[in-house]
Amino acid sequence: MTSLDDLPLRDDLRGKKPYGAPQAHVRVELNVNENTHPVPDEVVADIVARVSQSLITINRYPDREFSPLRAALAAYLGHGLNAGNIWAANGSNEVIQHLLQAFGGPGRSVLGFPPTYSMYPLLASGTGTTWLTAQRDSDFVISAQTARQAVAVAQPSLTFFCAPNNPTGTPVELEAIAAAYDETDGIVFVDEAYIEFAPEGTLSALTLLPGRPRLVVSRTMSKAFAFAGARVGYLAADPAVIDALRLVRLPYHLSALTQAAAEGALAHADLMLSMVKDIRVQRDRIVTELERMGFTPYPSQANFVLFGNVTDPHQVFERLLAQGIIIRDVGIPHHLRVTAGTEAETSELLDAIAQLAPR
Ligand SMILES: *Cc1c(COP(=O)(O)O)cnc(C)c1O
Repeated sequence: MTSLDDLPLRDDLRGKKPYGAPQAHVRVELNVNENTHPVPDEVVADIVARVSQSLITINRYPDREFSPLRAALAAYLGHGLNAGNIWAANGSNEVIQHLLQAFGGPGRSVLGFPPTYSMYPLLASGTGTTWLTAQRDSDFVISAQTARQAVAVAQPSLTFFCAPNNPTGTPVELEAIAAAYDETDGIVFVDEAYIEFAPEGTLSALTLLPGRPRLVVSRTMSKAFAFAGARVGYLAADPAVIDALRLVRLPYHLSALTQAAAEGALAHADLMLSMVKDIRVQRDRIVTELERMGFTPYPSQANFVLFGNVTDPHQVFERLLAQGIIIRDVGIPHHLRVTAGTEAETSELLDAIAQLAPR
């Protein structure tokens, strides 16, 4: 068999590892921050009807501008946005890739604040963009001063904030985002994949968009919206940014089936998001209980909890897996991350951890 080394692969891809969260299908899957509640039956029925309708004209290419979907996403976001401010793709991962293709690339750089979303360096590498990093303050916070200084030192083409941050759950103050914006001529990108899990009344970076044409805010339907399998992510920005992304997307990148399904889900946004409150309750319960057991969970505004003081994360991971529960080793020494699932899944997880020898 031929190995990668034998192929004329790009030099900058040699030795790289693909994204590879384990996809073990076990009873309790709490490893990739999905919404573990299924889509309600009545929404499924509406989506099926819309997808079936779209099949009647599936011999034709889909609406390249996915205009009805962009209008629906703008209406969902509010903040005075309209279809012209919206871009979407097959998951926010593809949205981020478009952003890097348009504004990054060879000779350019993107700045991030680890520990953060593991796909950022991979997407940077795939687009030939140099991945630069800066340190956070204590407890994974990024102060306005830290953000400003990091951007001043790195002079990046793009600056990435993940708010709340994966894998730590830490929010990012709007002041830090605004400070970074003022310090750079590049793109400032805020990944709000988990913002729906933040406390009611939390201000989104969408509120910073007016007057900031280089600011980009992304969302996904994969997490709170319980739609990970459909692959729909989107962003809001100045219409000029959207024009830039049109230069790099593949023609007809969002299939007619995806557009129909996403429009169906958005038509029932309230119902789709109805489990968010319960997930917040389970998340807070995980924090309280893990603390009681002697671990050090970090406060989280997302649908997962990172916790430390784990003597042997690999062993805990394996023991839980043997009981049909999968969580995530994110590679931070003595830490693990777990997604907040249903009440029953959370109970099972907490019981199983409590029964392991204390730490
Ligand atoms: C899960 C996640 C996403 C979502 O990716 P999709 O491609 O939309 O499924 C984006 N950003 C972060 C930080 C995530 O954790």
